[in-house]
Amino acid sequence: MADTLVPESTLPYPPVHKDKKFVVLSDWDGTITTRDSNDYMTDNLGFGKEKRREGNLEILSGRATFRDAFREMLESVSANGHTFEECKTLLRRDIKLDSGFKDFYAWCKANDIPVIIVSSGMAPIIRAVLSKLVGEEDASEIEIIANDAIVHPNGRWEIKYRHPSSGFGHDKSQAILPYGDLVEPPTLFFFGDGVSDISAAKHADVLFVKTKDDGENDLAAYCTREGIRHVLFDDFAKALPVVQAVVRGEKSVEDVVGAV
Ligand SMILES: [Mg+2]
Repeated sequence: MADTLVPESTLPYPPVHKDKKFVVLSDWDGTITTRDSNDYMTDNLGFGKEKRREGNLEILSGRATFRDAFREMLESVSANGHTFEECKTLLRRDIKLDSGFKDFYAWCKANDIPVIIVSSGMAPIIRAVLSKLVGEEDASEIEIIANDAIVHPNGRWEIKYRHPSSGFGHDKSQAILPYGDLVEPPTLFFFGDGVSDISAAKHADVLFVKTKDDGENDLAAYCTREGIRHVLFDDFAKALPVVQAVVRGEKSVEDVVGAV
């Protein structure tokens, strides 16, 4: 029901790539990076991991919306007196890239496949961390569809949601669905790991779900419960051959998702 409503966006979208055969859309936190920057801030600067996990599980069970629970997590960081600039500096220092992502991105770029980051995080933080991890040139080319931040004169800051009327805050399906309306829709690969990806999960042609050894595999749990077919991966180096097989026509989408 809610899926049929198109939430109004407070932030612009980059143009849809109209002439591509394949498009990669990926979550940022915990998918392209090895750990989630917002979880990291909440665990270390905000109200801590225990309360943050309670929030994640409330979202997963449907008892809380992502929008409201996630806002509380970030508010706990700001309420403890940590400025937005301080958070950016900490995250630039501590957040690491998935070890296979650079090669994955280079291959996509060489094969004319756009890679778009679709995130429930805040674009200024993603840009700051991305430019450090992949360099200014690649960072400036990668499109980011995310939320934003509002920094107040007194130093307090808050998340500015792209879709404030949606329980997702940022309804990631809205980055995917326009591709289905094209005359020749591309094959869409989506990569994600957590509760922020629930809004996107069933809309991609091939959904890759990242697994972690810390046991926080919320998207995998959601997809299993909802019967959404997906491919598990723990590193972009493992996902690349699967994408290559589809792009080269060696395997169909059905071969890839039907095998699981
Ligand atoms: Mg994530």
